[in-house]
Amino acid sequence: MLSSNDYLGLTSHPQLRASLVRASRQWATGAAASRLISGTQRVHREAEARLAKLTRTERALLFSSGYAANVGVLSSLPRAADVVFSDALNHASIIDGCRLGKARVIVYPHADVDALTRLLEQHRSHHGAAFIVTDALFSMDGDRAPLGALSELSARFDASLIVDEAHSLGVLGPAGAGACAEAGVTPELLVGTLGKALGLWGAFAASTPSVIELLENSARSFVFSTATSPAGAAACVVACDLVQAADDARARVLRYATRLRDGLRSRGWRVPAGDAQIVPVVIGPADVTMQISSALFERGFFVQGIRPPTVPQGTSRLRLAPMATHSDSMIEGVLAAFRDLERLRPS
Ligand SMILES: *Cc1c(COP(=O)(O)O)cnc(C)c1O
Repeated sequence: MLSSNDYLGLTSHPQLRASLVRASRQWATGAAASRLISGTQRVHREAEARLAKLTRTERALLFSSGYAANVGVLSSLPRAADVVFSDALNHASIIDGCRLGKARVIVYPHADVDALTRLLEQHRSHHGAAFIVTDALFSMDGDRAPLGALSELSARFDASLIVDEAHSLGVLGPAGAGACAEAGVTPELLVGTLGKALGLWGAFAASTPSVIELLENSARSFVFSTATSPAGAAACVVACDLVQAADDARARVLRYATRLRDGLRSRGWRVPAGDAQIVPVVIGPADVTMQISSALFERGFFVQGIRPPTVPQGTSRLRLAPMATHSDSMIEGVLAAFRDLERLRPS
């Protein structure tokens, strides 16, 4: 399996599985109401405190998914007179949140600090509050946001930095704290999902107590949605413990990714720059991409093809994501399968 976001293999971890079963007996399967009505149990607060500790932030707030978190944050914090600067390759949930909000949205070219600087110089002063929003680790390209530079720009132009750590949480940073912690950057708000490296489902936003209180009362995807399962919240505490202790697994995943990147590049495959666990192989035409994907599947490797509209026309790709549960020989097997398929590659 090279097409999963279960980077640390936690979805099948015996301790996490057991915690979910145990928690469903101790608490309940579902919350049966939204958080502000009767859906908040002590275990939600415990999970939020544990997530804040994991991400080295002050306070966290659970959402039902990362999609809901981004939609809630971006449609509530930026107001009508405000402006949001958004990376061109940001996740669909960020785009949808911006669309639902009333602030002006200015899309800047992917990870382009100079272009963003010019846009801030041109437009910042015409608006009330300003926000810069970015994925930390881009899901389909495998590269990182220039977090240090974005943090400097946000200070210089009095803008709030919002960072979505969906793919970086648990894999990057000290004890899996994420890309911001690794870069020494403290964003105004951080979004993380429990559905990827944490091996569960659901998500959270993390920030200062005052911003979290604002979200609790104004993010409509939080207010008007059933609370996260209490059993899931209890398992989330265990997932955080497992993630923090997973240094060996993190090192292994990153080593596998480096081996894949180097091995594929040396055989002429087009692998964009990156140094994290996501290894895209850009093929180009969608039909050839799917053909190679099927041929890999026949050889025992699940590598899903990624096509438009998830990625731009003509840049269809295979996206490889090694997992901590893989072995060196499996990774060598992947490279051997790609060698077998070089004749399918467009020249
Ligand atoms: C996966 C992802 C999301 C959505 O998170 P879910 O919990 O799956 O809804 C949001 N942002 C980014 C960058 C993602 O990769």
